[in-house]
This record gives sequence, C-alpha cells and structure tokens, in this order.
Amino acid sequence: MRTPVKKALVIGCGIAGPAVALFLKRAGVEPVIYEARPAPDDETGLFLNLTPNGVHVLKALGIEDEVRALGHPSNRIVFQNSDGDAIAELDNTDEAERYGARSILIRRALLHRVLREAALRDGIRLHRGKTLVAADGGGTQARARFEDGTTAQGDFLVGCDGLHSRVRQTLFPDAAAPSYLDLMNTGGFARLPDLPAAPTMYMTYGQQAFFGYQVTPGGEVYWFSNFGVDEDHLTAFENKPSDERKRHLLSLYTEDTILISRIINATEHPLGLWPTYDLPFLETWHTRRACLIGDAAHATAPSAGQGASMALEDAVVLAKCMRDHDGIYAAFAAFEAVRKDRVEKAIQQARRNSGHKVASNPVQAWIRDRLLPVFLKLGARSIDWLYGYRVDWDEPVQALAS
Ligand SMILES: Cc1cc2nc3c(=O)[nH]c(=O)nc-3n(C[C@H](O)[C@H](O)[C@H](O)COP(=O)(O)OP(=O)(O)OC[C@H]3O[C@@H](n4cnc5c(N)ncnc54)[C@H](O)[C@@H]3O)c2cc1C
Repeated sequence: MRTPVKKALVIGCGIAGPAVALFLKRAGVEPVIYEARPAPDDETGLFLNLTPNGVHVLKALGIEDEVRALGHPSNRIVFQNSDGDAIAELDNTDEAERYGARSILIRRALLHRVLREAALRDGIRLHRGKTLVAADGGGTQARARFEDGTTAQGDFLVGCDGLHSRVRQTLFPDAAAPSYLDLMNTGGFARLPDLPAAPTMYMTYGQQAFFGYQVTPGGEVYWFSNFGVDEDHLTAFENKPSDERKRHLLSLYTEDTILISRIINATEHPLGLWPTYDLPFLETWHTRRACLIGDAAHATAPSAGQGASMALEDAVVLAKCMRDHDGIYAAFAAFEAVRKDRVEKAIQQARRNSGHKVASNPVQAWIRDRLLPVFLKLGARSIDWLYGYRVDWDEPVQALAS
C-alpha cells in the first residue's frame, strides 16, 4: 500500500516559506503556505545581498537567472574613513571561480516576488491574510489557529514567520526573545547622476554612524545607514515622523564626506526603520510535528549579510531530511544536527560586525581605521566557510552531516 502524501503547514511567505514549500513538494510532501499579509507588498522593504551560498539554493530551485535579472552583481567592498578616503578593500571579484556562484544585490520585495511566484507556478497553495496566533506540534497532527478564527491541520508544520515568530512563541513560550543590539538600520533608493555605476559597495565609517551605498547600472543608488539608538529610546525613535528621522540622520553625518548627505537628501520616499536584532540561541528548533527555520529559528544581525542565505540553506536541508529520513521527528532532529553549528557561528560573526560599526569615541575610530586593513588582509579567506557552503539536492542528506 502506498504511504499517503504528507501535508505540511508552512507559516510565512517571506524567503524561507516559499523556498521550503518548493523543496518539500519535490520531496513528495504537499505544502500549503499561510501568510499574514493580505496582499503582496512588492514596493516596500530595502535590499539585500545574497552571497554564493544562498545563490546556490536559488540555482537548485531553477530561479537563479530570474533573480539575477532583477538584481545586480556586488562583489567588492571598499571601506572608507569619514572623509570618504579608502582605508581597506574586500575583493570578491573572483567569487565565481572560488565558490561557483556570484553574489546578487536585490530589492527584498523582488526576491519575495520571484520566490512566491515560483511556488504558485508549482501549484502550491498560498492563503493570504492568515495571521497565525497559535501553533501546536505536539499531538498526532500539527495544528494552526489564525486570527480570523479559522484553523488548519497537517502532518507537520514549518514556522517560517521570521524574527518575531509567533510559531516560536507558542511552541517554546520560555525561549528567550530576540536581543536588540542598540543599532538602527535605515536606507533607501536615490538617484545622483554624477555617481558612476559599479558592482562595489562603498562603506563609510562616519564620525557618528555607518553608511553604505552601491550604484546600479541603471543609475540607482542603493544605500543603508546604521546608527546607535539604545533600547530606552527605541520606541520614541520609531514614532518619529519620516521628515524628523531624515533630519536626525543628516545631523549624524555633518562631519563626514558630503556625499552621504547628498544621497540622503536625494531620497524621495519615506525612510523605513529596521532595528537590529538577533536570536542567538534556542535549545531546540522543533517539537514532534513542528519545526522552525530561517529567522524564526536563528536570526543573524544584518551586518553579516547572511540571514536570507541561511534561510534558503535551511529550506533545502529540511526538505532533504524529510525526503531521506523515516518519520517526521527523525527528519527534524537530523535537520537540527546538520544546521545548528553553522548558523550559530554565523550569528556570532554578525554580532561582532555590528559592534564595530559605531565607534564610541574618536580614539576608537582612529585605531579602527588603522587596524581594519590588517584584519581584512588576515581574514580575507575567513568567509570561505560561509560562502563556500553548497547543498546538492540529489545527494543523500547523510553526506551533509559528515
Ligand atoms: C535591514 C536588513 C538588511 C538585511 N540585509 C541582508 C542581506 O544583505 N543579506 C541577507 O542574507 N540577509 C539580510 N537580512 C536578513 C534577512 O532579511 C532575513 O534573515 C530573512 O528575511 C529571513 O527570512 P525568513 O523567511 O526567515 O523571514 P522573513 O523574511 O521575515 O519572512 C517572514 C514572513 O512571515 C510572515 N509572518 C510573520 N508573522 C506571521 C504570522 N503570525 N502568521 C503568518 N505569517 C506571518 C511575514 O509577513 C513574512 O512574510 C537583512 C535584514 C534586515 C532587517
């Protein structure tokens, strides 16, 4: 007798959600996605950089070209002091040879769209306007309850609902909440015709805040800023109207290269805010019938540029575990065993990067500007373990654990 097809409830349609749904379908599971947002918001959010390890997962899904066509190469970082003078460089122009794929800088909303549409093309059902309020993965079935009063049942549930995961809160009510790292992110898109396009991200250690920008071949400046806002002032800052946020931002860069203020002033849309959190350690990511992946399980601060790539890696590994292991619990346990050390190491790295972004005094800034080139030279290959990771869908999952 044929075993009935397992049904998976996938909560969240950001990055991990559609990716895991696509791989689960390949593994013979029937996934159904439930997303809180009632409609796609393809105009919001900032941009992100997918490094070769994440791009390999897109390749395995057959959507690398689609994502690349909407994104831009980004394979060199030039670090600058507050005057805009280069102090160090991280050159990854040979990443295709070294890691077998090139990084992609892309607007977040476009990446979401490609993943979501790939899932829909594959016949995967997506229910919108479904905000999960409670998940139960401990009985003979996995269950989800939504804010609109509806429920859903399946053989297992995958929590892909991001940093402030409701799935995590209901499965593990005693788990630590994400930690705020006293660092704010903002950014946007601007046009300054005199800036030349290059696949290079320029990152400036300003006197009071950090700033990064890259100019795309179409002449758009993708930029971000990181600056200190401590926890006590976080809510007040988030409540500031956009023009006040902009004024505050400009005031942080008055002593730095004028280019930063020009870019901020040339930005016409309201400035969004993304406080920097991470979620360093959960004792376990799964119960009998429910498992967390992506930011819901292990959020890294944006500074390492790895959260999305890690979410994609999780998606392929979890589906392989489902394919290759007998039983849901065994698959979840194998997934956790394969993934935990790697993501925890990435979180630590991101945390260190976040700490260096805002110098607390001029002496610290002076030392940093001189030591950075040395550290970068010494550590140039320290990203190999991150970027060089590749999961082959066809290989049995046991090979990953070795
Ligand atoms: C400013 C910033 C810059 C970043 N830059 C990079 C970068 O350059 N490179 C990189 O790799 N990573 C970057 N990251 C990290 C990256 O964005 C995340 O790691 C990634 O989005 C995680 O994917 P996810 O699918 O786990 O979660 P998300 O992308 O957050 O998706 C979660 C989904 O779940 C939905 N949801 C939430 N709650 C519920 C609920 N209760 N019920 C149903 N649905 C729900 C949400 O609406 C959303 O669609 C950055 C993050 C930030 C904030």
